Amino acid sequence: MTTQLLERPVVLTAPGAEPDDQHPAALKTVMPYRIGTPDMASRYPVIIGQDLVIGRAHRWHRDWWVETSVGESNIGRPEDGVPGVEKAAAHLAQEYAAGLITAVPLEQIRAEEPRPLTGPVPLLHLRMPANDRNVKSALTAFAGLANLRWRAVLTGFPGSDNHWVLACELCPWVGPKFWSHLRGRNGGLPSLHRHEGGCVGPDRVRELIPAYQK
Ligand SMILES: [Zn+2]
Repeated sequence: MTTQLLERPVVLTAPGAEPDDQHPAALKTVMPYRIGTPDMASRYPVIIGQDLVIGRAHRWHRDWWVETSVGESNIGRPEDGVPGVEKAAAHLAQEYAAGLITAVPLEQIRAEEPRPLTGPVPLLHLRMPANDRNVKSALTAFAGLANLRWRAVLTGFPGSDNHWVLACELCPWVGPKFWSHLRGRNGGLPSLHRHEGGCVGPDRVRELIPAYQK
């Protein structure tokens, strides 16, 4: 993944300051923070000071979740026009300022990040309820991955609109994809470009994947 570290403007709240149009109360925070590069599971670390992580934020369907020293919680959908990760980061900064959560060194967080598996993953992502509908969708998705020469390397099927960490079987690329993009529009095939960098090139992709030859 190549996402750059995103520095956020510091929003400081003076004691007794009233919310105004430019600084809605929800995004005011008493400390500077920045949002780091997401890990393989698409979790963004929210960082303060000398690389201390106060929590991690990720999207699951339409909601945003935060993971902190006290566990995982759903903070809901962001208001219109507010990126979810910003809402989550501001929430974490407020919790930290209130003394509700503690920080962990970024180095430790990075060391504990999930790594791609070489063996099989479960059918369903741990957060996906094992009902008939999800099992059926997951089986379809895994059949599609095999057909298109992708391999799931971190989790089972997370639903079609959540990031799914996949390894390209035509080159060493590993990264997050959406199944909704891979299954192609109107029963068609996805782009021969496959992923950033263009994989092994459209001609070679067509040659290696029988589905494109039909
Ligand atoms: Zn590739």
